[in-house]
Amino acid sequence: MCSKDSTWGRAMTDASISVTQSVVEQFTERYLRSIGCSIERSDDRWLVSVPDDTDTEITHGRHTLIRGEGTPDDDDDRTKRLHPESAFFQQLLREAGERSPSGKLSIESESDIEIPKWIQNSAVEVQNAQFTPYYDRTAIVVLFRVGIETVSEYQQEFLRAVAVDTRSEESLPKLAETFLETTTVESESATSGAVQLTKTDVRPLLETARELLLESVQGQLDDIHREASRAADSEVEEYRQMQQQRIQELQEEHSNLSSKINELSENINTGDEDSRVQALRERKELKSEYEELDETLNELQERRDSGFPNRQREIRERHSLDVQVTPLTLTEVEYERGEIDFELIDGSIHQTVTLGYGSGIGVADTVRCSSCERELTERNPLQTISDGLECQNCTKEQ
Ligand SMILES: [Zn+2]
Repeated sequence: MCSKDSTWGRAMTDASISVTQSVVEQFTERYLRSIGCSIERSDDRWLVSVPDDTDTEITHGRHTLIRGEGTPDDDDDRTKRLHPESAFFQQLLREAGERSPSGKLSIESESDIEIPKWIQNSAVEVQNAQFTPYYDRTAIVVLFRVGIETVSEYQQEFLRAVAVDTRSEESLPKLAETFLETTTVESESATSGAVQLTKTDVRPLLETARELLLESVQGQLDDIHREASRAADSEVEEYRQMQQQRIQELQEEHSNLSSKINELSENINTGDEDSRVQALRERKELKSEYEELDETLNELQERRDSGFPNRQREIRERHSLDVQVTPLTLTEVEYERGEIDFELIDGSIHQTVTLGYGSGIGVADTVRCSSCERELTERNPLQTISDGLECQNCTKEQ
């Protein structure tokens, strides 16, 4: 279905993950910090300092960003509004899209231990959790802007982060989430540990991230595509009915003319000299009118029988989707992988479970019930540790 790398014709409407104020603020803060700006935040405004050596289109010096819509109505050189539609935010998106800046983020192993939902939701308690990191790993997190547009009615844009391990190219959705929750990303110039990845390293990873992104929004695009197709179908049907009505009108006119011509022919055969001349002239006029009408009708019927191809094409083009995917920021994320020991306690029973774990990604292993082999999940949590790890489903069945 893809016609080009980033653009293909499909259709859309759901607004649930459009660019909200909080996403706008998160992006703005992260982007401004990544290019070396500093931000002092207060409730309704941010004071931004853009150092002289910063490579940006934003004027150097101090700016006031006003959160949300409202006054001032117009941006001036030093005061700007910050919301999804604001000129300043659009400028940032454009600039970020052109530069794909690199930044760096380290997720420390000391960060909060993430206890999987299948333990959190269980009756079993975690007495202790100990993470032992074995490997330093690197991922890239790409923040994409997805713009979906049709010439007619739908337009939507949203931001989405995708994380990919640089070595295994494994998708790390949890890490992307962690990234979105973290606002402090050090810029390449500001950090001592500079970004390691070269452009050549990044290119295939960016391609993988783009594919993952498209996969993740596929369902949504399908919905929108169906909706736009329906809109196009009903427009085509409306047009077909209108033309069918026009055909009927022309057919009536056609048969009226035909009977008038017959009448005149009778007059010609039966009338006197004067009325014959008059009837001949009239019949000649009507005949040429008849022929013209006949041609129009035939042409219209032919177009109807072939399904009005040109009109259909025009309507379908108008309802087709243009999807544009632009990487805005690219961040190198260092994280650690290793093992975690969870000491579980259930009444008087203790058991230690060792699982693969990563900082920023949580438990990396799938854990199955020791009795039925069903996967332990948020909805089928651990129930008891008295005889291996048993799931809730098994306990219910007993
Ligand atoms: Zn089970």
